[in-house]
Order: sequence, then C-alpha cells, then structure tokens
Amino acid sequence: MLIADLSESELIARVQTRLPQAPDWLVVGIGDDGAVIEAGRNRLEVLTVDALVEGIHFDRRFTPPAAIGHRALAVNLSDLAAMGAEPRWALLSLVLPPALPFEDFDGIIDGLATLARRHRLHVVGGNLTRSPGPLMLDITAAGSVKRRQVLQRSGAKPGDLVFVTGTIGAAAAGLEMLAAGADVVDACADRYLHPVPRVREGLLLARNRAATACMDLSDGLADGVRQIAASSGVGITIDAETLPIDDATRHWFERRAGNAIVPAATGGDDYELIFTVRPNRAGRLKALRLHGGAPITKIGVCTEERHVILRSGTVDSPMPKGYKHFG
Ligand SMILES: [Mg+2]
Repeated sequence: MLIADLSESELIARVQTRLPQAPDWLVVGIGDDGAVIEAGRNRLEVLTVDALVEGIHFDRRFTPPAAIGHRALAVNLSDLAAMGAEPRWALLSLVLPPALPFEDFDGIIDGLATLARRHRLHVVGGNLTRSPGPLMLDITAAGSVKRRQVLQRSGAKPGDLVFVTGTIGAAAAGLEMLAAGADVVDACADRYLHPVPRVREGLLLARNRAATACMDLSDGLADGVRQIAASSGVGITIDAETLPIDDATRHWFERRAGNAIVPAATGGDDYELIFTVRPNRAGRLKALRLHGGAPITKIGVCTEERHVILRSGTVDSPMPKGYKHFG
C-alpha cells in the first residue's frame, strides 16, 4: 500500500496511534482546527521551525525512514537546547509524495515519536499535504524557559572561555561514508542518521547560568564560532589541537583530505552546543560534567580584537569558511 491509497484521516489516525497520551496542559489536541495549549506559569516560550527536504537535507537511498523522522525532530530539539529551553510541543507538517509506501510513513512517524517521547515533547497537531516531488517534513517546536535563563548567541565578552559538547565532524564524515555507498557500519554514520540533541546540557547551562552565549552546531563549528563572535561583538581564537574529533572521523578525513581539522570544523550536522563561559564561572560546568550526557571540551577564548582565528601551534590562520547551504 502507498500513501495514495489512504485518506487523510486514515493517515492522521496512523500518526495518533504512534503518539503517547496527551499531557494535561494540552486542552485541545489533534482533530480540531487548532491546538489549545495552557502556557507554563512564569515561563517564556521559545519557538523554532525547521524543514527537512528530500534531495537537499536527506537522501532516501541511504537514510532509513526512522532516521528521517528522528533527524527532522532532532534539529528542532537542538535549537531549543541552544536557547536553554525545555521541549514542550511540536506541530508537524508533512508533505508526502503519493508513491511513498505506508511502511515508510509509519517508520518516519515512529522515528520522530521515539525521540519526542525521550524528551517529553508532545506533537499537538499538524498538517498533511501531497507533494508532486520530494518528501518534506516541516516541524515547528516550542519549549519553555525562565526569563533569566534564556541562552542567546550575543552575551560573550572578551576573556570568556569557549567550550563545545561531544565531538565534531563525525556526522559530516558519516554522511560522506553513506554517500560513498560503502557498506558502513560505523559510529560516524550513526552520528549523521541519529544526531543526539544536547537538550539536557542546554538545560543545565541555562539553570546554572553558566554560559554567556550559546548556539547549536547545525552548519559546523567554524560557522558557530563566527556567529557567536559576530552576535557578541568579540573575536574568538580556537586552538586547533584541542578540537574534539573522534578517531574514526580523524582517520576518514586524514585519508580523504590529508588533514582532519578543517573538514571536521567546517562539516555540518553535528548538533553539538558551542558556548562561552566567564573564567570565574567555569566551576559551574561541574554540573554539566556530572549530569550531562556528553563530554565538554575547552577549545578557545574570546578576544577584544574582533578576529576569528584558528590557531595551530604558533600559527594563526583565519577560521575557514563553513559550508553554507540555503534552507
Ligand atoms: Mg540553531
């Protein structure tokens, strides 16, 4: 059976059976003209939207349906994490080619619902449309945060230390491995297919008020460093030797490019958090080290002089330009 064989209400029913029971703050959920949500007391709402388009953001030849659903939601969760927000609800807009098998449809929803459940995010509504071309998933997500805990890109000051969660470059290496068609069973491929949004880490940074600036790495570390520097009006010097790059990623890039630093720093889809911390507040990262899921690494420092620099030993070069996709 294909999507074309099912009515819209049958598809919505398939989505609903894959979602957990509605939380009590959801006054009106799926099935009416709009969702009605009770706002959290003394909390602000963080809103974000992101679309995943077949052929641009994913390739169905090597991205299983569950991974498509997972990634579509993970990018939104990562944005909420970067703002220090606790995930709350999402609206899901699906644009579907009629020839999509309904097992694939179920797989996409299952991948998305599994990740949503893990982060206690509830899909409160959405929309289904036919596509004459590619498959698209467009998700609007909301999270809540206390006013004084909102994380932004703009608060870094000269002297602040720069940190990153997890490791960088693995997703970009994984995408290259998958696209090369090798029968890869590798952690890098999994980092691309199932990125882990750093929700817990973002919440801990916000609650501790440890970070002066924060963003998530969707377009690569080099891009993240530039964005924080530009928003905060500071320079940043990154120490290339300290960049956390796992062995498989390092080997892959060294074999392909002779050097792992530049491709790892410019490759996208990491969904790690980059953040800045005043040196006298670095002790507040202890909670993150104890209770976060990902290791954190100090990779640089903010400077008065507004240059964004990659330092290798004693050699300073401008931070390489990241890969910039439209959309
Ligand atoms: Mg972002």
